[in-house]
Amino acid sequence: MQITRSSIATTKGPADWFTGDVYIDAVAAAPAPSRVSANLVHFMPGARTHWHHHSLSQTVFVTEGVGLCQRQGGPVEVIRPGDRVLFEADEVHWHGAAPDRLMVHLAINEGDDEHDVVVWMDPVTDAEYTAHE
Ligand code: MN
Repeated sequence: MQITRSSIATTKGPADWFTGDVYIDAVAAAPAPSRVSANLVHFMPGARTHWHHHSLSQTVFVTEGVGLCQRQGGPVEVIRPGDRVLFEADEVHWHGAAPDRLMVHLAINEGDDEHDVVVWMDPVTDAEYTAHE
């Protein structure tokens, strides 16, 4: 039997980037020349990212709960475990938990010296967040 111990503390998603309570566990952060990183992100009910975009796109894979996501100009979509979402490069969007359910997703990002992993924008308002109801 071999157990690889977790050694990196869970971090709280900062209020500059998220609304509500979000907890982030680092999964992968390989050094250059790799530019991929992965995080397991736990959104408590009602929590969501601010509007943002990724210079080299982002894939999220839902592992638990019920979530919501939206690209700018599109409808709010419900996402569930097993769903995979590709946010294309520079596509403005948000993602998070449903109002009454937590949501966990694996987020796979890319970035390097010339490409920001994420560019943060304004919070998702309650009116925007509840537009699916
Ligand atoms: Mn994103």
